[in-house]
Amino acid sequence: MRKLLIANRGEIACRIIRTARRMGIATVAVFSEADAGAPHVRQADAAVPIGPAPARESYLVAERILEAARATGADAIHPGYGFLSENAEFAEAVRAAGLVFVGPSAEAIRAMGLKDTAKARMRAAGVPVVPGYMGEDQGLARLEQMAVSIGYPLLIKAVAGGGGKGMRPVADKSGFVEALLAAKREAASAFGNDSVMLEKLIRRPRHVEVQIFGDAHGNVVHLFERDCSLQRRHQKVIEEAPAPGLSSRLRHILGVAAVTAGIAIGYENAGTVEFILDLDDPDEAGDPKFYFMEMNTRLQVEHPVTEAITGLDLVEWQLRVARGEMLPLCQEAIEARGHAIEARLCAENPEAGFLPATGRLDRLAFPADARIDTGVAETTEVSIHYDPLLAKIITHGETRAAAIAALVRTLDQTVVEGVATNRAFLARLAAHPAFVAGDVHTGFIAEHREALLAGQPAPAAAVAAAAGAAMDGVGAGPGFARPFRLNLAAETHLALWEPTGTEHRLRLALVPGGLCARLADGEEVRLEGPPLAPAVHAGGAVVRPVLVPIAGGHEVRIDGQAWRFLAANPAWKSHSAAGPADGSITAPMPGRVLSVHVRPGEAVRAGDRLAVLEAMKMEHRLAAPFDGRVEAVHVAAGQQVGEGALLVEIARG
Ligand code: ADP
Repeated sequence: MRKLLIANRGEIACRIIRTARRMGIATVAVFSEADAGAPHVRQADAAVPIGPAPARESYLVAERILEAARATGADAIHPGYGFLSENAEFAEAVRAAGLVFVGPSAEAIRAMGLKDTAKARMRAAGVPVVPGYMGEDQGLARLEQMAVSIGYPLLIKAVAGGGGKGMRPVADKSGFVEALLAAKREAASAFGNDSVMLEKLIRRPRHVEVQIFGDAHGNVVHLFERDCSLQRRHQKVIEEAPAPGLSSRLRHILGVAAVTAGIAIGYENAGTVEFILDLDDPDEAGDPKFYFMEMNTRLQVEHPVTEAITGLDLVEWQLRVARGEMLPLCQEAIEARGHAIEARLCAENPEAGFLPATGRLDRLAFPADARIDTGVAETTEVSIHYDPLLAKIITHGETRAAAIAALVRTLDQTVVEGVATNRAFLARLAAHPAFVAGDVHTGFIAEHREALLAGQPAPAAAVAAAAGAAMDGVGAGPGFARPFRLNLAAETHLALWEPTGTEHRLRLALVPGGLCARLADGEEVRLEGPPLAPAVHAGGAVVRPVLVPIAGGHEVRIDGQAWRFLAANPAWKSHSAAGPADGSITAPMPGRVLSVHVRPGEAVRAGDRLAVLEAMKMEHRLAAPFDGRVEAVHVAAGQQVGEGALLVEIARG
């Protein structure tokens, strides 16, 4: 293997280039028109344009990729994850062209490609699978009847599904048909296959998956497990290794089951066997029962946590196995040390149902001491065309607590400007006491939703730190007072406002070595050190907040919580900037209106479905923000709408 073409983009393309370069293998990037200036293009030794921005016209066009390989003399192709990575025809075409495909055989991809056939294979191999229906008969009568025999609640899953798409939980009989039709529509549009299967819904599940590796010589090993239970929209948000709180017996059994799955299909290269643990249903030893869910026949987004605990480079293993070498280590020689956690920093809006966000990255800064896998840079335009993942933040520690603390600190120090992200959400999630206690299950985010979205009231230390920075005139922005510390009178009165309008009044005084802030309630806080990274002595403890200048003030971050303080009262601005608390329902992103459910004049209750928008291959339900009456409907089903387009207007009452 001399020259490797990476049929992918973003962080994973950059990640693969890094290892290939270290191994002395030349690299070829491919890119769409939208990615002409992307980091993976700059980092590779050569780069080939493969078409317009939409993936189905570029990254998903097998012939273009093969052409690029021919044109550059590449002798191997790494598919990364997503795109063509689990496309058996592509793997076949690559090999038919005489190139190395860095991945498993087309047969193995096929065996695991559809969830129903995969389940059947696994059941035959003796691996437990979730009870349910996975038959060919997709008739409504048959599905309804099977639903009754499985029992509610249940889960409808697209057999060709992935990334949480085409999946719908159903609480009882009355919701079955609507959920079924929605799942089928989503599956047809995302995967071109609308077949579904039904599964018993596990009420308190954990997602635990095992990394396996096979070679062409019949060896299969596992590299321990990862817990990926923290999910939103059935997509992973935070992953860790090892899975917290599992008995060594269960960890061992899961490893054996995963290797059994790999052997059953003659697996080669990197793969992940996903299991679901039922926390409400213990086995005879008191461990939660587990079931095979699916197998991903490729490198996984969250592979870095496995690398962190094993000290191994999984991409190196992939390349070595692909060129015919034996697995570098046997099972007994693979060891895990410490604990690793990964958080997925995404361009998205947690407050708006985690909808992907777009825009131009103006600023992107990470602290130096964590592993950051990213494929974007300042000036990158985050578009609607691809996955919203901006970066993966990976920390490792001797203990889980140490890894979590490092992750929270890293998130506190991460700065992204220009695009909305889930940074603050991730930080609150990682710092949440229940997560720290290891109480993970896939309903975690929904269960703790309020605390994760809203955060806590600002503590004195945060207010004082913001005041100290304001007095020092660090930061910038319109309306920002810049009295410098040298000019500070013996005592200065200051007011700061949170964006919500909450006012904080305090008095600041110079004291030897720093500043002393006295808050309205009489609490005294001492500030020492640099204004943007001060040591804050409050209530007998010292905290070290991170301050990030924002327009008109500062964001103060402490232990995963963040608060914004402005030097001017936001209410002074014109009311238009105060945000539309009115009933104008607009498209959160460009997309197609699938259906409209209300008519002008109709009364609606808060939460009622108004319309369904299809965007980025997902269905987004738009709901009434409050009780009222429909004033106007501006769109019809089938219509294409731009971001911000006015769809429906609701009048309060
Ligand atoms: P996808 O391929 O779309 O990612 P998976 O089958 O891997 O779909 O499931 C994704 C997630 O959905 C799982 O991690 C789990 O949280 C949840 N899930 C899947 N099957 C079940 C089930 N039977 N009961 C409860 N939750 C489930």
